[in-house]
Amino acid sequence: MNKVFLRRKIAPRVANGHPWIFANEVEKVEGEPAPGEIVEVYYADGKPAGKGYYNSQSQIIVRLLTRNRADEITEDWFLKKIEACWKYRQQIGYTENCRLVFGEADGLPQLIIDKFNDYFVIQTLALGIDLWKPALVKALQKVFNPKGIFERNDVPVRELEGLPQQKGFLSAPFDTSIIIKENGLSFHVDVENGQKTGYFLDQQDNRRAIRHIVNGADVLGAFTYTGTFEIHAGAYGAKSVLGLDISQNAVDQANRNAALNGLEKVVKFVQANAFDVLKQWGKEDRRWDVVMLDPPAFTKSRATIQKAITGYKEINLRGMKLIRPGGFLVTSSCTNLVNPEMFLQTIDMAAKDARRKIRQVTFQAQSSDHPIIWGMENTEYLKFLIVQVE
Ligand code: SAH
Repeated sequence: MNKVFLRRKIAPRVANGHPWIFANEVEKVEGEPAPGEIVEVYYADGKPAGKGYYNSQSQIIVRLLTRNRADEITEDWFLKKIEACWKYRQQIGYTENCRLVFGEADGLPQLIIDKFNDYFVIQTLALGIDLWKPALVKALQKVFNPKGIFERNDVPVRELEGLPQQKGFLSAPFDTSIIIKENGLSFHVDVENGQKTGYFLDQQDNRRAIRHIVNGADVLGAFTYTGTFEIHAGAYGAKSVLGLDISQNAVDQANRNAALNGLEKVVKFVQANAFDVLKQWGKEDRRWDVVMLDPPAFTKSRATIQKAITGYKEINLRGMKLIRPGGFLVTSSCTNLVNPEMFLQTIDMAAKDARRKIRQVTFQAQSSDHPIIWGMENTEYLKFLIVQVE
């Protein structure tokens, strides 16, 4: 097998468990590994570091799959990994829907698999894992006997690996507009044309966290996508719920979801730019008991973190101004580039500018089917905060 030897002076990251090896950490490559091929990796002193997949076209030249040199990376190895991923999700209480594979956090770098009950959506975001797609499909078929498997590789990061963007069936074709159940509610999920894999499973535990504060409340939600938080609010007894999204398509889907749950009289969605209307409604003295914000990642690169923070601060400031004294702000941020501490500081700044006192009710991360590996920053990305606003 081809071998990759690491430089003597590299960061302790790899030894401490991080699976990425950057091109500038490699001393020499023995043999001529083809792009995507499995290689053995050794530290400078000759001790084995593990096995992983290689791609000289990528800045991350190797991503480790195992630390155990006795492991043979085969179809069967992937089957066992998928079984282990499923076992973990079951152990922590997931039955129907979950992120079955959360990339690096499951020891399967750049692989995402979402389970929507009997349907599966796959993303293979690096060449070395993309080559194992047939093995992954086989494993899913063996473990779950699914009704359908769909590939959502229409993701720009694939191009950094020399891979095309593409999407399509990995099983016999099926109706890609499916219905899932979450917390006893029903939601349409468009696995073919929806955002990301079609549905944001990472907020599924957090949606339950609003249960008590929305009871009897007038609720405003912004950045609603298919309306999951807002429909939960309706089901948890909100007096009225208004949801906003900039995408008409998302608004239409959200209204369909409200109707699917018999909540269309209480929960309504309209198309709007949240930045504009929240500002305007502040001036018009419109008020709500609960305001919920779940904006997209305002940055994808370190260079624009400051701009993202300005965006988070601005939208939270505008949201807070709309809250009746004693009401609640429910606010999220989904980029790992803004770490939890920075996020809390941003909300604190927004409160000071809005001249409102806040106290933290709860501060959570993404759902536990997306486990966090300490020191692997891209696994800790979602911040979910509820504060009471005086
Ligand atoms: N809360 C949702 C996920 C939201 S994703 C859930 O739990 O499923 C972020 C959403 O913000 C996207 O649907 C996007 O269309 C919307 N969006 C982006 N910019 C916006 C803006 N300026 N105003 C309103 N919505 C916006």
